[in-house]
Amino acid sequence: MPATTKDKPKMTEETKAKLREKKPKEKKPCVCGCGTLTGGSWAPGHDARFYAAVKKVRSGDMTAADLSKQYPSDTIKNFSERAH
Ligand SMILES: [Zn+2]
Repeated sequence: MPATTKDKPKMTEETKAKLREKKPKEKKPCVCGCGTLTGGSWAPGHDARFYAAVKKVRSGDMTAADLSKQYPSDTIKNFSERAH
């Protein structure tokens, strides 16, 4: 029976240090255009508010013009296309 090597990929001290190291999250302005800096795409709750507005446009309670007035940012157009 051949001796099996039990070599697992070793965690070097360097690797461990890298894993421990927390990169500061780069904050970007919320895509809705409100100017709030956030770690994600949206400031908390702003995505829900936006998708609710998109739904209103789809159901006819609001016009697309009103939506773009409320959300003038170009980035947000991609989100409205992805919204269900
Ligand atoms: Zn926002």
